[in-house]
Amino acid sequence: MTASIARPEAVANGYASSASNGHAPSNHTKGRLTDIAFGSNVFGLSAMKTHLPKEVFKSVKKTIETGHPLDPKIADVVAAAMKDWALAKGATHYAHVFYPLTGLTAEKHDSFYSPDGEGGSIAELSGKLLTQGEPDASSFPNGGIRGTSEARGYTAWDVTSPAYLFDTATGSTLCIPTAFVSWTGEALDTKTPLLRAAQALNTHALRVLKLFGHTNPAMVVSYAGAEQEYFLIDRSYYYKRPDLMLAGRSLFGAMPAKGQEFEDHYFGAIPERINAYMIAVEQELFKLGIPAKTRHNEVAPGQFELAPMFEASNVATDHQQLVMVTLKRVAERFGLVCLLHEKPFAGINGSGKHVNFSIGNATQGNLLDPGDTPHENAQFLVFCAAVIRATHKYGDLLRAVVASASNDFRLGANEAPPAIISIFLGEQLADIFEQIKAGGAKSSKSKGTLEIGVDTLPKLPKDPGDRNRTSPFAFTGNRFEFRAVGSSQSIAGPMLVINTICAESLDFIATALETAVAGGKAVNVAISELLAKITKEHDSVVFNGNGYSEEWHVEAAKRGLPNLKTTVDSLPALQRPEVVALFDKYKVLTPRELHSRYEVAFEQYVKSVTVEAKLVLSMARTMILPGALRYQTEVAASCSSLKALGIATDTALLERIAGLVTTVEKKVDGLEKTMAHGAAKTIVKEAAHFCDEVLPVMLEIRSACDSLEGLVAHDRWGLPTYEEMLFVK
Ligand code: ADP
Ligand code: MG
Repeated sequence: MTASIARPEAVANGYASSASNGHAPSNHTKGRLTDIAFGSNVFGLSAMKTHLPKEVFKSVKKTIETGHPLDPKIADVVAAAMKDWALAKGATHYAHVFYPLTGLTAEKHDSFYSPDGEGGSIAELSGKLLTQGEPDASSFPNGGIRGTSEARGYTAWDVTSPAYLFDTATGSTLCIPTAFVSWTGEALDTKTPLLRAAQALNTHALRVLKLFGHTNPAMVVSYAGAEQEYFLIDRSYYYKRPDLMLAGRSLFGAMPAKGQEFEDHYFGAIPERINAYMIAVEQELFKLGIPAKTRHNEVAPGQFELAPMFEASNVATDHQQLVMVTLKRVAERFGLVCLLHEKPFAGINGSGKHVNFSIGNATQGNLLDPGDTPHENAQFLVFCAAVIRATHKYGDLLRAVVASASNDFRLGANEAPPAIISIFLGEQLADIFEQIKAGGAKSSKSKGTLEIGVDTLPKLPKDPGDRNRTSPFAFTGNRFEFRAVGSSQSIAGPMLVINTICAESLDFIATALETAVAGGKAVNVAISELLAKITKEHDSVVFNGNGYSEEWHVEAAKRGLPNLKTTVDSLPALQRPEVVALFDKYKVLTPRELHSRYEVAFEQYVKSVTVEAKLVLSMARTMILPGALRYQTEVAASCSSLKALGIATDTALLERIAGLVTTVEKKVDGLEKTMAHGAAKTIVKEAAHFCDEVLPVMLEIRSACDSLEGLVAHDRWGLPTYEEMLFVK
């Protein structure tokens, strides 16, 4: 498919490869999911058990399951076994995979083979090569942590996230998940602080569990299950839309006659090509040991969702990155393109990533499981109160960590969820916390609508009224669901924040209880007093109503909950002294590391909006105006011929087109000037300039162009329309 074909041809191609022409796509997946061995491409615990000497296996397992420091002596043995396993499966290269601050996945590939000195080659992977890599990688954003001259950066093997084989048509690569740090040991990635935060959560959750009388509790971990929304469009349209190709979203495009108003796509029958695609995605993920449950059509036409089974947050995060890569890669096979942008189509629902999380361990199970009678389940109430307190104290941080130029079109726009961070508890729990505040919980409302007591996949609540889709942070039976995360974002940021703020709350709780008990108070008395105090101070973050309503915005302001509408409004939370101290205290991010992230987030924002603004300029000038001008000439010619023949003519259409063309021309020139003024002194000021001055002009240009789209002859319009992109599957 080339970029130079005309739109009618692109439309024809899209139709030919779609299932809507009555022919099944030729590249259907023949195999069945059951033909594929789950995790066959993963060097996880079961492969290690087969391939490692018993003592070495035990040592690795101990590190993974208890957080025990890795024994450096075993690296050589593990590396050799890993290499043999990979070679036997056809791998030729290995790669340290890391997660830089772009939010993407990066890899440095090396061949296993090196010259053996006798004209041949030998396959090698030493313990040193496994545990440490040194990609130059100086071009990744670092927010001032290192100068370009200080290029040294290291990758360090993360033994807790299993290595895997990544298959492509040309061969497979052994991928080793790693942390990426600078020469000074400062984190340059998203994994390092996530691992540090998980450690902090474990430390303080264990203290709380000990207060509940558990003498030797197993390591406490947080679990994450991220539901991924995405759009699929035919590839031929994609290559006719520079905006989709370079910015991931359409910067122009009038609403089709039919949008999502019928909601007939939601949970509708999955079109054949899409179904084949979903099966192929599942197969790839299964090989990688990612338990994906492919799901359903979403609300918008062309939108779909995939939900994997939850895993420990570090592994879930790495797997989530693989899910995004796989969704994009497999789409190519089917002549499709997968769009992960938060808002590819204006006026149509955007895509998010619902991050479900819980806290638990091997001995106590899910600590956020309320059981049958939550009011009597003090341990659950304490962990739940910790989450409530954390969300209230650090709502602005939760908002900041999901801030991006693209997510701004969901959060803070008139779409789910709002930019105000509040918690939905559901009727039963809200009632219990009300009772606690009033002096003690005596009863639990009947659990008709509440989901309880399932350690594996939860059953959906029977009563859909129990769900609140408008809440950014909702209790859903035995876990919380953070819904503000953007569809293209890494879940590392949200999970590291959740782990850190929960660790802080659990630390606060453990300290308060330890002190009270040391002072002679009975532990159950201390717990009820503390629960009442936390509820009184923090339950203003609890909101069970409609988060989209105007009243909630007013009410939230009264409660003092921040409503940070844009990235530029939100990011300063990363420099709030309490937040800086929080990350420092729990050794998740030093003030310097945090500041670097703050800088990088602003830089990314400015870069994204700059690319979009440049696209608006070039597309308006070279694609939209030329088509409109040609059509304008035709209409003008028609008017003058009629006039020459003495027939009365109405020039209204011509005038409307001419008026819009002039508007676009003027505004485009204005946009160019505004952008040139953008080089403000600091990145923060520059971001504000783009947010307040550049984006609004882009919108005005779009609006005039979209009006033109409704007037200009179809065959004079160069861009594939929303109708074509959204409805041809
Ligand atoms: P819904 O559409 O109701 O939100 P889904 O089944 O689509 O439900 O998604 C639920 C997600 O939550 C899945 O990724 C699932 O693995 C995850 N999940 C379920 N239980 C837990 C838990 N205890 N901790 C973390 N994630 C969980
Ligand atoms: Mg959900």
